[in-house]
Amino acid sequence: MPSTTVTVSPKGAERLSSGHPWIYRSDILSAAEVEPGAIVSIQNRKKRFLGQALYSNQSQIALRLITREKRPFDRTFLTERIQAAAAYRRQVVKDTEAYRMVAAEGDLLPSLIIDRYGESCVVQTLSQGMESLKPAIVDILKEHFRPKSIIERNDVAVRALEGLEQTKGVLDGEPSAETIAAINGMRFAFDLLEGQKTGGFLDQRENQLAARAYAHGRALDCFSYSGGFAVNVAPACDYVLGIDSSEEALQKARRNSELNGINNVEWKQANCFDYLKAADQAREQFDLIVLDPPAFARQRSSLDSALRGYKELNLRALKILRPGGYLVTCSCSYHVAESDFLEAIASAALDAHRTVTVVERRTQSRDHPILLTVPETHYLKCLVLRVV
Ligand code: SAH
Repeated sequence: MPSTTVTVSPKGAERLSSGHPWIYRSDILSAAEVEPGAIVSIQNRKKRFLGQALYSNQSQIALRLITREKRPFDRTFLTERIQAAAAYRRQVVKDTEAYRMVAAEGDLLPSLIIDRYGESCVVQTLSQGMESLKPAIVDILKEHFRPKSIIERNDVAVRALEGLEQTKGVLDGEPSAETIAAINGMRFAFDLLEGQKTGGFLDQRENQLAARAYAHGRALDCFSYSGGFAVNVAPACDYVLGIDSSEEALQKARRNSELNGINNVEWKQANCFDYLKAADQAREQFDLIVLDPPAFARQRSSLDSALRGYKELNLRALKILRPGGYLVTCSCSYHVAESDFLEAIASAALDAHRTVTVVERRTQSRDHPILLTVPETHYLKCLVLRVV
């Protein structure tokens, strides 16, 4: 049993009853002498046991629920959780060796990310509690999953909120400079120590496959990064143009097209807003356009400007789509609800004088589970639209 107990306010207890795993510092009534990162018992004012949680003495999220059971959250329990997460991936991940094996709250392992890239695992421990469990997590991975290397990508800003240092490195084994893993049956190269996030944007895998189903003629992949969409749709297209503002990203994209023997993709370093405007003026036309920009609204306060950004971008894309063409348009801003996003695009379609149908309303790949009672776990919107 955990050695410590934290008492929470009625409001804190109510949050747990509503199915949310976080309790904020303002709802803690007493946490005297609790060690940072400890596993604690949560009780209400009447001393009723509510569950066990990871405690942070720094973050505004003071408690992250790990179980409503009294059973000790020991190594066996942790192993079961990781194994359950991995078993679910065996059901939903196909033709793919790079995927999210543990998605934090979505797998009842708050603040823990484990991504699998072929024979390597990349780990992020994003709270004091998960940081304390890191040695056990590494042992469990070695014992049950036998990766050739385990990498830590804890070089993320959120760690500062927990008073944890930003760090990255090799926790076990020997990493290679390049890790090659299949996604949707195609080959992709990852740099697990230097690439964005843990190496790539795994949450778009199913959307990349969905885009393939609509791909034909001339395609444009805006905000391409390492070419995830461009490479996935290339075999179905005559020509693909992949655009990113980062030359480093395009180097990865070139490597990925080469790995798949693709030679109908052209890569261009440009600002996508500028390119789309110039393409309209030059009367360029495409049959498929993908828009996958970085999050425009990182805080709720930037929602209005984010929506203007989405409208602008989608307006420019809709103008250069041929009738019968498809727009695959994404927003990874949690603060932008799907309804807001649809509204912004509807307004763009009106301004562009295009009639548009909604073919698919999609979200992040299923290896990034959405908890029904935790809205924060649903962040990615991906719409497939067709210009009539
Ligand atoms: N579509 C990619 C992920 C995109 S991440 C995939 O499926 O893997 C967002 C990318 O947008 C980053 O690579 C970043 O370099 C690029 N980017 C950000 N602002 C940009 C801009 N204004 N014009 C072009 N690229 C931009």
